[in-house]
Amino acid sequence: QKEEWAKFKDEPTRTSDGEQVELAANIGTPDDVTGVLENGGEGIGLYRTEFLYMGKNELPTEEEQFDAYKSVLEQMGDKPVVVRTLDIGGDKELNYLDLPKELNPFLGFRAIRFCLENEQVFRPQLRALLRASAYGNLKIMFPMIATLEEFRQAKAILTDEKEDLKREGYKVSDKIEVGIMVEIPSTAVIAKAFAKEVDFFSIGTNDLIQYTMAADRMNEQVSYLYQPYNPAILNLINTVIEAAHSEGKWVGMCGEMAGDSIAIPILLGLGLDEFSMSATSILPARTQLSGLSKEKMTSYKEKLLSMGTAEEVVEFVKEKTDQ
Ligand code: PEP
Ligand code: MG
Repeated sequence: QKEEWAKFKDEPTRTSDGEQVELAANIGTPDDVTGVLENGGEGIGLYRTEFLYMGKNELPTEEEQFDAYKSVLEQMGDKPVVVRTLDIGGDKELNYLDLPKELNPFLGFRAIRFCLENEQVFRPQLRALLRASAYGNLKIMFPMIATLEEFRQAKAILTDEKEDLKREGYKVSDKIEVGIMVEIPSTAVIAKAFAKEVDFFSIGTNDLIQYTMAADRMNEQVSYLYQPYNPAILNLINTVIEAAHSEGKWVGMCGEMAGDSIAIPILLGLGLDEFSMSATSILPARTQLSGLSKEKMTSYKEKLLSMGTAEEVVEFVKEKTDQ
């Protein structure tokens, strides 16, 4: 099997009917990039920047962050790199920030909510990213966006820092796309309104599933409700993709679901443009996609979206794709 996968390492990702999608990787540190390139990644779909902030006793400086972002961008050359701004809170704690204990941390003061209230943390990260943009193909992504105002506010701070840096004489790319994670149902439902203002979406199914099903992703007792193939999830994903495409924007997915062999045919049929997964899943996914017809998967779309249970979905996909 490894040998079959290896054939696809330097190939574009193409379906049996000649349609192309992008297979990107999720990373946590600059050291992960080697593995991405070895596994034929066409980009970074999610750089989780939390690791820069974790496992130490103070915030990383702008300089430290700049070095990390620049390193990833340089290693990737002209391939796209989506960097997500700080997504702290929920399951990811920072002891030196002394955040209040919350009853429901997953529904609490986290990610963009924290950053918008703590500009002294947010702005240095944005400055580091903007400065690093001169060294590659950077895209910036905000996590946990629940309202359009949050996006506008984050984007305004970014624009403000960009102008400052230019005044200070720094070189900043003028081609940086700015997008959001879609991982909160409110955002998925009105994706059409967001699509007019963002450059791209990346669907974060790890959180989107837990918030849609009201089932904590860390709680074993309710894990039976954690259903990626539930038609409710598929309908939300479809809403996001249709909204983006109607505004000429692209949509990726960076949750675990993007690398799953049952989900891949479904997502292909729904029109997903970019699949971001762990590096080791890329070649198996590319191999699988080479045997799938996008036209055929698209023809199953309405049927899948109108199903009632995850089980029906899985059974149908397995039958149609010989799994
Ligand atoms: C997600 O929520 O799907 C995601 C990719 O982000 P994280 O797993 O870091 O919350
Ligand atoms: Mg998330």
